[in-house]
Amino acid sequence: MTFDILSKVSWSDEHQERIDKYFKGQCSEWTKTSLAPLRKDLRAGLLKLQNYTCAYCRRALSHEIGRNEIDHIIAKAIDGMARFTYERINLVAICKRCNKNKSDKPVLMRALTNHCSYPISPDDYLWVHPYIHRYSEHIKIHEGYIFEPIGGRSNKARAEALINACGLSSMPEVEKRRAFESISYASDLHLSVLTAIGQYPHIADNELAKMIIDARAELTGSSHETILNMIVGVRSASFELIEKAVRAASL
Ligand SMILES: [Zn+2]
Repeated sequence: MTFDILSKVSWSDEHQERIDKYFKGQCSEWTKTSLAPLRKDLRAGLLKLQNYTCAYCRRALSHEIGRNEIDHIIAKAIDGMARFTYERINLVAICKRCNKNKSDKPVLMRALTNHCSYPISPDDYLWVHPYIHRYSEHIKIHEGYIFEPIGGRSNKARAEALINACGLSSMPEVEKRRAFESISYASDLHLSVLTAIGQYPHIADNELAKMIIDARAELTGSSHETILNMIVGVRSASFELIEKAVRAASL
């Protein structure tokens, strides 16, 4: 179960003191070496609060370094916005794909004046802000990768802005491409079938069977039904094993 909205938080007194000392209100140097321990704490804290899921696509984030990134919700590269570089509620953990797609796209309804503080009203945003809006009132995720804007007009508009900026509409194609590659590159047929079934549980059996036949040269001429039976067999066997383990654990 992932989070719906993040609680608004402040830096610890110690971290805030460090930020103030180095930047004196002109926080713009995100990669400042001496603030590396602070960024490390932030990343660990965010991953935990977010249940290791990306704030935008809500897919699993690995906590290994390099597999997740810290996003500045209001991009620090936008003119005049560098002052929010270390603003605590402007920071969130996201996946590499969302970060690459979102880049420095604007998230505010209107430009801010130079000295105003960080906007916290829901109507200030074009965008589903992880600390200000409830995700569940904006986006419904079907089968793990189909993103539907929901709610009233402004909620839907914010959802669409996020879906478009992060390229979430193309997620089903991306998922299928990844599955096809895993199936093709696996060292043997058994491994390829197990990988596909284990890692891509949302792809329908029929589609997966077609993908496996297309991706594996040794299956040329095999019948669709044979592969389909193999998939169904592996899936049902796994469920039995899982259920057995769950029952055993609760005893
Ligand atoms: Zn993401």
